[in-house]
Amino acid sequence: MFDNKEQSRTSIAELGEFGLIEYLTKNIKIHHKSTVKGVGDDCAVLENSDHQTLVTTDLLVEGVHFDMSYMPLKHLGYKAVMVNLSDVYAMNGMAKQITVSIAVSNRFPLEALEELYAGIHLACDTYQVDLIGGDTTSSTKGLLISITAVGEAKAEDIVYRSGAKPNDLLVVTGDLGAAYLGLQVLEREKQVFQVNPNSQPDLENYTYLVERQLKPEARKDIIKLFKDLEVKPTAMIDISDGLSSEILHICKQSKTGCNLYEDKIPLDQQVISTCEEFNLNSTTIALSGGEEYELLFTIAQEDYPKIKGNPNFTVIGHITEENEGKNLITRANQKIELTAQGWNALNKG
Ligand code: ADP
Ligand code: MG
Repeated sequence: MFDNKEQSRTSIAELGEFGLIEYLTKNIKIHHKSTVKGVGDDCAVLENSDHQTLVTTDLLVEGVHFDMSYMPLKHLGYKAVMVNLSDVYAMNGMAKQITVSIAVSNRFPLEALEELYAGIHLACDTYQVDLIGGDTTSSTKGLLISITAVGEAKAEDIVYRSGAKPNDLLVVTGDLGAAYLGLQVLEREKQVFQVNPNSQPDLENYTYLVERQLKPEARKDIIKLFKDLEVKPTAMIDISDGLSSEILHICKQSKTGCNLYEDKIPLDQQVISTCEEFNLNSTTIALSGGEEYELLFTIAQEDYPKIKGNPNFTVIGHITEENEGKNLITRANQKIELTAQGWNALNKG
């Protein structure tokens, strides 16, 4: 990490666009029967079934969404896929195919793109999705990656943001705040490195945080678990911009209010200790820190016994009538209005 030396550099200009595409796509494995035609024609061809199709896309821009000085390209490729798969799972669907479009400047040698694609292929194999196409072009500066994911679900299984009802329980998977703190740790080490290039990054006490930032996993396992438990959430969203902003999305689209309990928010021990060290409020970090890729959902009260005691789930509050407002109930039992700060807002503070 923080080390820019490369073993070998093959200029992508030498290969040309078609050579590059061929190189990047030569070893693609197809996992699904529904992928009739992948890379190699003007369009990919997918077989329609009795399912509805889910489509989602995300654009990642160097310097805006990622920093190459601490984001290894393999991780970047993996994460770029996770960001998209997470959106499909947030609909209670299964991701089946992705397309990957890249714009690269000739500052990147072929070996760098190989690393990027190694991460993309690893994500495809791990999550059983087919890479079925994309586009490749040059950029004057930096790297852009746009991924589109295609998924499917039975019409009756799809979960929208708009289905929450008063008295539903508000539930979150995993724990919160680690990915944002991981970014803070990496930023700090980058600054140390810029002052003293011989310094070794000191990440030992922050392994979980850094992993959550650099190698997030989308919660495909939870979608399987819902099927096993025979639970269908009433509303669901993935946590990409911070817990509070996602809760507000559900409330707005469902026309409800909510009570979120501060003392219920799940935090890892490393989040608690690092917040103390950095003099940050862990609740603020959990509410506004982004890039968690956990799932936030609501379920009917009667489904509570099905999730009770499951370590994947934490009940953090409940849905109310719209006129009761969107509230955070603090540890001191004070009711304060929940505001959306999005995790970008934290960077300005
Ligand atoms: P077109 O001229 O129709 O845009 P291209 O020459 O760009 O076709 O692409 C040829 C094939 O390679 C298509 O199947 C396309 O989807 C695929 N492809 C192009 N770039 C990428 C990429 N970066 N990753 C994966 N597949 C790609
Ligand atoms: Mg093209």
